[in-house]
Amino acid sequence: MALRALALALLAWTAGLSWALELTDDERAYMAHKGELLMCVDPEWMPYERINEAGQHEGIAADYLALFAERSGLQITLYPTNSWQDTLDAARERRCDLISMARPTPERHQYLDFTDPYLTYPFVIATTNDKLFVEDLEQVSHQPLAIVKGYAIGHFLRQANPDVQLIEVDNIYDGLQQVRNRQAFGYIDSVLSIGYAIQRGDFLDIKISGKLDFTSSPSIAVRNDEPLLTSILQKAMDAVDEQEKRAIYDRWISIRFEQGFDYGPLLRWIIATALVLLGMFYWNRRLVAANRVAHNALLELSHAQSELQQKNQQLEHLAATDQLTGLNNRLRLHESLRKEIYRFERFRQPLSVIMLDIDHFKQINDEFGHQVGDSCLQDLAHLLQQHTREVDTLGRWGGEEFLVICPQTSLEGARHLAENLRTKIAQHNFQGAGNQTVSFGVASIDAGDSQESLLSRADRALYQAKRNGRNRVESLTIAQ
Ligand code: GH3
Ligand code: MG
Ligand code: MG
Repeated sequence: MALRALALALLAWTAGLSWALELTDDERAYMAHKGELLMCVDPEWMPYERINEAGQHEGIAADYLALFAERSGLQITLYPTNSWQDTLDAARERRCDLISMARPTPERHQYLDFTDPYLTYPFVIATTNDKLFVEDLEQVSHQPLAIVKGYAIGHFLRQANPDVQLIEVDNIYDGLQQVRNRQAFGYIDSVLSIGYAIQRGDFLDIKISGKLDFTSSPSIAVRNDEPLLTSILQKAMDAVDEQEKRAIYDRWISIRFEQGFDYGPLLRWIIATALVLLGMFYWNRRLVAANRVAHNALLELSHAQSELQQKNQQLEHLAATDQLTGLNNRLRLHESLRKEIYRFERFRQPLSVIMLDIDHFKQINDEFGHQVGDSCLQDLAHLLQQHTREVDTLGRWGGEEFLVICPQTSLEGARHLAENLRTKIAQHNFQGAGNQTVSFGVASIDAGDSQESLLSRADRALYQAKRNGRNRVESLTIAQ
């Protein structure tokens, strides 16, 4: 018994010797004082890592971290989270001391330090099976692309193309689901993790359609307020050799195939698919090039068209707008009134017009200058806009004269509106000209009226208002 214990102790000692890290006194003191370390991980990112149903960390990163813990003697305990974003939040808030795998970004450097990278992998894009080969990111950057929320690839994609539309999802399964539902054109992630999800049989309608020019080389991310921890982990990492790394990698990659795949059909499938893909690849390259030329030409054309349309709209607006007040001009007023009269003729709905003219406007110009006169006109336009309805058409008839076309409004209703406008204007303090008044002429359409007869009746009513002392509303019916 004693001999066996001695042999075991010796074994442990020699093993310990061969692995012993050369730690500084500070590093040793840190470890003795720190005790247990809490580690956050990506809870759903196989084969790299996940938190399994039993609540344990497993995958490539889990094996690495176990090895690093063994080499260094650090006590590392899992701090479980629900998503990658949760993991980043926990690290930022110092609820955990390290993240098993993360690559540096400027944002993360604010709260994390990084060891050297211990893995590297390329990014690929997954789409539904019906999509063509994706040659480069530019080809699809105008389409919505899904990525896991908080993954560093988001930062780099936005840097490469600020207009890229990214849909942020909680994990790879949500991302592939978005592709399947066609909410996202593609999902971007590492080749191994997408391959793993597809192979599990959950996403047979999804394929890897292209490789991006991005690779990732994740490190262990460590809270940056305890730099000794980074240096200890770095030493542990340096003590792991290439063979050991290879063994971990192979273990997880081969597990993928062993878990329910018979090599024979798989190999045949791979060869057949590779041949088809190769053929498609060359054919696609030519197609993509031709498509790109056509696409660019179409883009230019549609650009020119929308520019033309915009110019036309601007011209149309200019042609119908009074420059000084921004209201409809006389041309547009005629047009609107013609339409309203047509509506009256068909449906016999009431229609009234109000013509208004500033009292003694000449004196304003003479006394305060033309510029004050102009700003009075603008002030009045604004007041009229404020106190008329959306359905009314308002415009400058000419000089200091304005017209309001009021559909669905009887003579009584229009008189009421004019009276309301009159009091609002009389109470208003015009810029540089103080209180001013306006006179109103109102007329309502009757059977047999034309545009000219209706307008001339409103004009005569306005003249009457001037004659009767100004600052008042007068109306005339067809019999008058
Ligand atoms: P009444 O009460 O009888 O309407 O008197 P009034 O002085 O307002 O009428 P009159 O028609 O004699 O004068 C209108 C003045 O409006 C003359 C013209 O110089 C001025 N006017 C017309 N258009 C503009 C404009 O765009 N800006 C300025 N500042 N004045 C204008
Ligand atoms: Mg006037
Ligand atoms: Mg006038």
